[in-house]
Amino acid sequence: MFGERVLAEAADGLPAFVYDLAGLRDHVAAIRAALDGAAELYYAAKANPEAPVLRTLAPLVDGVEVASGGELEHVRTVLPDARLAFGGPGKTDSELRTGLEHGVHRVHVESPHELRRLAALGRAVDVLLRVNLSVDRSNAALAMSGPFGMDPAAVEDCRPILAEAPHLRLRGIHAHLASGLDAPALLAQSAAVLAWARPWLTGVPDPEINLGGGMAVDYADPSHRFDWPAYAAGLRKLARRGETLRIEPGRAMTVYCGWYVTDVLDVKRSHGAWYAVLRGGTMHLRTPVTKNHDHPFTVLRRATAGPRTAEPVTLVGQLCTPKDVFARRTDAGSLGVGDVVAFTMAGAYAWNISHHDFLMHPKPRFVHLT
Ligand SMILES: *Cc1c(COP(=O)(O)O)cnc(C)c1O
Repeated sequence: MFGERVLAEAADGLPAFVYDLAGLRDHVAAIRAALDGAAELYYAAKANPEAPVLRTLAPLVDGVEVASGGELEHVRTVLPDARLAFGGPGKTDSELRTGLEHGVHRVHVESPHELRRLAALGRAVDVLLRVNLSVDRSNAALAMSGPFGMDPAAVEDCRPILAEAPHLRLRGIHAHLASGLDAPALLAQSAAVLAWARPWLTGVPDPEINLGGGMAVDYADPSHRFDWPAYAAGLRKLARRGETLRIEPGRAMTVYCGWYVTDVLDVKRSHGAWYAVLRGGTMHLRTPVTKNHDHPFTVLRRATAGPRTAEPVTLVGQLCTPKDVFARRTDAGSLGVGDVVAFTMAGAYAWNISHHDFLMHPKPRFVHLT
């Protein structure tokens, strides 16, 4: 069924990003149902900030996390009523001012200097302090160590700044420590964050703890999904009355709803290895380059007469660089010119992280199935 719709789209020109918005709605509704109030659900817009995606998510989330002035203005325009949490390192004064003008729900403060600059703007605002705890991140796909948030000692340095700026309302702690954790690993991390945050927040009424995103996504096995019911059950055990828990996933919410669909332009054997050269390239879908993985795909056979590959075959794009590789030595079967290749899991950190203008090939089309 989906294959037929993709082939129908292919007739109108490739490459194309095809988004299954109905599938996205079902997926996020299932996450929400699993959470069942265990935590508020924000969406980290940087995973995919495209307007149809945001509009699909809006009724299913409690808010949106934005990480720059650009994302802030964009999400505010698309979703005028959404609650926004404004995070990200290196916020400028003008970005902070924009946040205040747009009435952001929470500012996630990344350093004592940023807190001072926010205080100097003189406006009432609700803040969470972002802490960078040293927890075990060895099994994470991406450890957010480095300039993200504050060491516990720097969080402590925020106390006197807050004491002198009563218009800054401390509401809680924010932590986003790693990406790519499965439910047990993320629960262990959440427990560590809570154990640190609770004593620190003594005296703060109705404290909030934002436990971040980073729910694992398995590109090697797309059917292997993050265990939301297990995570929610664990959160419910960790929760205490009188406090609000919040999470802000990105990738695990939107990755499954997008396909990058293209077709085979040429096939060749080079120094003993088979290659299929696809229309487009990693300037549209940079994910396999940044993650250094073989991107999952399905093939819709359409080839007629003409040259074919043997196996294994490496899928490359049109860029003049050996880095333009989607997947190496795959067992996709024989590919012929005209076959359609649909890369799955292209709904997050895909088009929006890619170098669109490199080599100036045509841009893909965008198709939204509802
Ligand atoms: C990127 C980011 C997220 C989302 O991370 P995912 O791995 O996409 O779930 C959440 N919070 C912050 C602060 C981030 O920077």
